[in-house]
Amino acid sequence: MSDLLLRNLRPMGGPACDLLIRGGTIAELAPGLDAPGVPVEDARGAIAWPGFIEAHTHLDKTVWGMDWYADRKGGPLQNLIDNERNDRNRIGLEVHRQSMRHALHLVASGTRIIRSHVDVDTDHGRSLFDGLQATRAALAGMIEIEIVAFPQSGLMVRPGTLDLMDTVLASGADIVGGLDPCAIDRDPKGQLDALFALAEKHGKPIDIHLHEPGEMGAFSMEMILERTRAHAMQGQVAISHAFCLGSLPESRAAALMADLAREGVAVMTTGSPSASVPALRALRAAGVRVGAGCDGIRDTWGPWGLPDMLHRAQILGMKNGFRTDAELEVLLDVIGPGGAGAIGRKGHGLDPGAPGDLVLLAGSCPAEALTLCAPRPLVVKGGAVVARNGAPLRDIP
Ligand SMILES: [Zn+2]
Repeated sequence: MSDLLLRNLRPMGGPACDLLIRGGTIAELAPGLDAPGVPVEDARGAIAWPGFIEAHTHLDKTVWGMDWYADRKGGPLQNLIDNERNDRNRIGLEVHRQSMRHALHLVASGTRIIRSHVDVDTDHGRSLFDGLQATRAALAGMIEIEIVAFPQSGLMVRPGTLDLMDTVLASGADIVGGLDPCAIDRDPKGQLDALFALAEKHGKPIDIHLHEPGEMGAFSMEMILERTRAHAMQGQVAISHAFCLGSLPESRAAALMADLAREGVAVMTTGSPSASVPALRALRAAGVRVGAGCDGIRDTWGPWGLPDMLHRAQILGMKNGFRTDAELEVLLDVIGPGGAGAIGRKGHGLDPGAPGDLVLLAGSCPAEALTLCAPRPLVVKGGAVVARNGAPLRDIP
């Protein structure tokens, strides 16, 4: 943890001042600060924002920097899952190298914390988790990585996966993952009871992918809510995607959002252009904690995406029909302080006592910075500069 004096920055787009970080923590904000012996950076009037929160991605999946992947499949979700599982080894998708590439681009674009799911399946054992854990260790000090043990190919339909999940959670995975208990496992009670038992055994939170549409998704969501209550896990459960909230009748979706807020279940949205997604305004108005993520970036599933939360915030804004400056600032909150709340982090901001993790943004105001999406002049983690002018201060493999 380092000391750093940043001169002439505009916290959250407000009036210019200096910001002093001592021992990795923000110590003081005021004009004309002096700190003899402390390294100084001139922010040249840039906006300062708390480091971004990438609340939903898959660092183990990208083919970024590899030969062009020409074998993407269309069709239902199961095709995409099977194709990826069968192709990883054939194309040489080495998880440590690929997750380093993905994570270092996120460092350069101003990310403080990544919540990454990692596939746990009986074809690959714990090897994908081990690759990602090596990346987490290599980048400690530049970015924090939370690892979700994710049974991408199903839990109940592939015997042996539950034992692997248990092993990976005992070996350092932070969060219990799951997906589509009806559509993939066709056994919602079996999957969800197993996931909540794992969470209880390991004392870890839960984050479940829910792609299921309409009433099927609502049914799974109700079962998750029931178990959140029964296991007293309020504030420790998240649902990623929650596509059903974007396709149900408004009153049905509103009632579910009220239940999510009451049980403290967060929603991680990606603003997926190819799906019905929950309305950001309605989620926030209901009091649901919302985080955002880029999801898969240029992987075997799809050719799109960038490892940049500002870019993702633009997609979210377009998907939600946002136009006004106030709406654009909501997006910056979702990838900033709001997103930190969604993953259960407190004290994420630019006040004294907060972590010395921030990103400088080019633009006259936060809304303009979001639309410009320009290279970040400076990224600071724990008081140390980790990226400058859009490039990480470490070689990308
Ligand atoms: Zn995902």
